[in-house]
Amino acid sequence: MIIYGSKAVHIKSEQSKTSICPSCGTQGSLTLQVFRRHAHIFWIPLFPIGKKGMSQCHHCKNVLETKEMSESIRREYNNLKNKAKGPIWQFSGLGIIAVLIAWSSYASGEDKKLELEYIASPVNGDIYEYKIETSSYSTLKVISVSKDSVFVSPNEYEISKKSRIYRINKPENYSELSYGISKSKLKEMYHSGEIFDINR
Ligand SMILES: [Zn+2]
Repeated sequence: MIIYGSKAVHIKSEQSKTSICPSCGTQGSLTLQVFRRHAHIFWIPLFPIGKKGMSQCHHCKNVLETKEMSESIRREYNNLKNKAKGPIWQFSGLGIIAVLIAWSSYASGEDKKLELEYIASPVNGDIYEYKIETSSYSTLKVISVSKDSVFVSPNEYEISKKSRIYRINKPENYSELSYGISKSKLKEMYHSGEIFDINR
């Protein structure tokens, strides 16, 4: 279950010197307060979703929502609201998400770099995950490498889900037979996406 909601945080208060309380008629008795709401998920603040506020009279304790304020009180409240800055931690979740995105794109970049190295200099035991046709995937295992070719043993099994290909990667699934692929053909297969992953 995903627990989410919103929460208001008090960010600024100011006592109004000129306004008059509509309830008791006292001048300068109103304190204006601004809150900023943020969305949260599992209690982690995600991002702010607007400000709201109220005024309270410290003489008669009367509370006014913004929609109940007279025009002059509301003008003063709006000025305060525009000045009021909320805390940066209300963006925590967005920060976490940005860090995760940056990290995963870095990690996948590093992964690509490694794969390019693997394809340029194959070694025995490398496993190529490749596409046979739509919804049909299998693996090849490198069993020897010569100057310009690699010799691979094909997996005798195939699987329809790319993400489950690891299930057929078992030593006993590889054929006794092997065949050669030129290193240039191998590069071509990798760059065309026919070989889509290499495990070493
Ligand atoms: Zn009052």
